[in-house]
Amino acid sequence: MTLASAPSGTSAVTPAWLDSWLSEQGQPAYRARQILDWIYKKRVATWEEMLNLPRPLREQLAAAVPEGELTVVRMLGSRDTTRKFLLKLSDGRLIESVLIPASPALYGEASDRLTLCVSSQVGCAYGCKFCASGLAGWMRHLTPAEIVGQILTVERETGERVNNLVFMGMGEPLANYPNLMEAMTILNSEWGLRIGARHITISTSGLAPAIRWLADQPLSVRLAISLHGATDAVRDRIMPVNRKYPLETLMEACLYYRETKRQMITLEYILIDEINAGVEEARALAEWARKLRAKVNLIPYNTVEGLEWKRPGEEQQEQFLDVLERAGVRATLRREKGHDISAACGQLRLQTEGEQDAFFAGQIGSASGVRENSHA
Ligand code: SAH
Ligand code: SF4
Repeated sequence: MTLASAPSGTSAVTPAWLDSWLSEQGQPAYRARQILDWIYKKRVATWEEMLNLPRPLREQLAAAVPEGELTVVRMLGSRDTTRKFLLKLSDGRLIESVLIPASPALYGEASDRLTLCVSSQVGCAYGCKFCASGLAGWMRHLTPAEIVGQILTVERETGERVNNLVFMGMGEPLANYPNLMEAMTILNSEWGLRIGARHITISTSGLAPAIRWLADQPLSVRLAISLHGATDAVRDRIMPVNRKYPLETLMEACLYYRETKRQMITLEYILIDEINAGVEEARALAEWARKLRAKVNLIPYNTVEGLEWKRPGEEQQEQFLDVLERAGVRATLRREKGHDISAACGQLRLQTEGEQDAFFAGQIGSASGVRENSHA
């Protein structure tokens, strides 16, 4: 029997792998349950801490599966607001995860929910013109252990339990489909983190074929589409992915998702001045939303350093919302204040390139090194 390849880190250990590995090592099968409990229930980070395992077994495990896939470099924000975590991967690269307290404007209804916004890749290959994550290009996929590890690491750091997940950090989750699915199994399983599929939202810029794959797999996760334009002319201009999967193709895939999963989709729409925030655009958006019976999340654009885009005035934002509501579309407008870092979710790489480089070189040691989300 060939052994399945070893997990990418402790946060990606599965019962299937443990069963075959333990039997190959001549270890009793009940060790699997103990190990899973240490990782996903007691949330320990190292093999060394798994005290009811014999030392030689801990050493064998340490040789087979790497630990410490993520370390916290810095945390910004406070308990009752949004907290941003800068996390270092084992190859020194940096990602961010954002912890967000319950907010009715975000996913789900107001509750005691604690949401973590997670990254799926280092950088992003999709190059949307307004987005900080796309600016530096794509570096690599996150492994399943690095995806799940974001939740475990933040929980360890804060002592709190995350019960809602949004894949709205750095990267395009559906471009990292196999790793995303592996992570999702761990997040959702009874032996894993036990986060219900309906408490997991995948956001995509519009990878139509992958939306169909997602519809055909068993987990009914929530789907959010980063639409940002209701005509091909606008979308082509700001989101290169639209040339590959134009609106009609994207919407057909969304309809397929909706029908297969019997679930309401969310259309994310950033309001960008002089690009997509006019009344005509609002009408076109209303039409798509009605066809899809989707709800719309309007998000005033957050200024990104080095980019010239800006948000429209408040009056125009309200007017846009009004057009949607009059058309019978369920819509929300995020009315956060300029300095609220909750806006950081979805815009995770806020540091300038120079600051990033300095981070990689380990030159920044004080909180002043990270720029807050200081849009106008
Ligand atoms: N790649 C996926 C997942 C990232 S989600 C996707 O695009 O859906 C990040 C969300 O934040 C996306 O909706 C993205 O369009 C949005 N976003 C990017 N830059 C932003 C900015 N400057 N202001 C507000 N939202 C932004
Ligand atoms: Fe990538 Fe999403 Fe940013 Fe586009 S909006 S560049 S797909 S992270």
